Amino acid sequence: MNKQQLKSTGIIFEVREFCLHDGPGMRTTVFFKGCPMRCAWCHNPEGLSANIQLLVNQSICQHCGACREVCQNPQQCVVCGTCVTVCPQGCRRLCGRSISAEDLAAELRKNEPFFKKYDGGITFSGGEPLAQIDFLEALAGLLHPIHLTLETSGYASSDVYQRAVQSVDFVFQDLKHPDPVQHRRYTGVELEPVLANLNWLKASGRPFTVRIPIIPGVNDTPETLDRFAELLEGRSGLTRVELLPYHQTAGAKYALLGLKYEPPFDPARPLAINLVPFEERGIPCRIN
Ligand code: SF4
Ligand code: SF4
Repeated sequence: MNKQQLKSTGIIFEVREFCLHDGPGMRTTVFFKGCPMRCAWCHNPEGLSANIQLLVNQSICQHCGACREVCQNPQQCVVCGTCVTVCPQGCRRLCGRSISAEDLAAELRKNEPFFKKYDGGITFSGGEPLAQIDFLEALAGLLHPIHLTLETSGYASSDVYQRAVQSVDFVFQDLKHPDPVQHRRYTGVELEPVLANLNWLKASGRPFTVRIPIIPGVNDTPETLDRFAELLEGRSGLTRVELLPYHQTAGAKYALLGLKYEPPFDPARPLAINLVPFEERGIPCRIN
């Protein structure tokens, strides 16, 4: 594979069709693998690693031993997928596939008649699409004029962020916490690049929606919601803010990856969602 081909090859873990909540109209959402953040409430843990992974559902395993018999690398899984094909229970699957921008574009274009009929398009999500910026740009270039939407944490260099935003028609910008210390504590990364990119997005005049996951005891205090609203004040292409209440099902997929879900907050604590700080500033806001 030459350098150019490498750049336009990416790893995705799902293509979900007929989505109604990832942008205007009926859409196909592509989930990119790999994310630099480690949000304590992440409900897509299979998007964290940039690599293809083996998922095992131990809860339905019958301990027949077929997977062990065929495995050539029992000490260190090399994700060859052989065991997936022999498991009679369907406990095993590979998560992620490597695909060229050209092949993925051809696959996605099959739904073009639906996009036209239902004013939809394609949404890039993850994981974090900006972590595969060359692939994202190449793919977007092949898909225009289909309407393209990007869902991003905004945690990237300004160069990467601007390239990504300029290659799509609409942005869902996630915000996790307005305080730098709490942001680092709950996401594992600095807030500063996210704010710098948000400010550029606001100044650009491009249309965007902000999505804020509301996590019990983490970012649902009146002061925190007020600081979120403060960050979003002023002239910009902001269409609205969507508050996404935390769901206790968030931890369901961790066991498939051999991980434990141990959030450093009380998942059962009732949420205190308040739209007033946004409404007071004239920012359209809703709970999703
Ligand atoms: S994916 Fe391959 S290496 Fe990994 S456990 Fe299965 S057979 Fe073994
Ligand atoms: S092949 Fe499937 S059912 Fe059999 S031991 Fe392996 S995971 Fe369990």
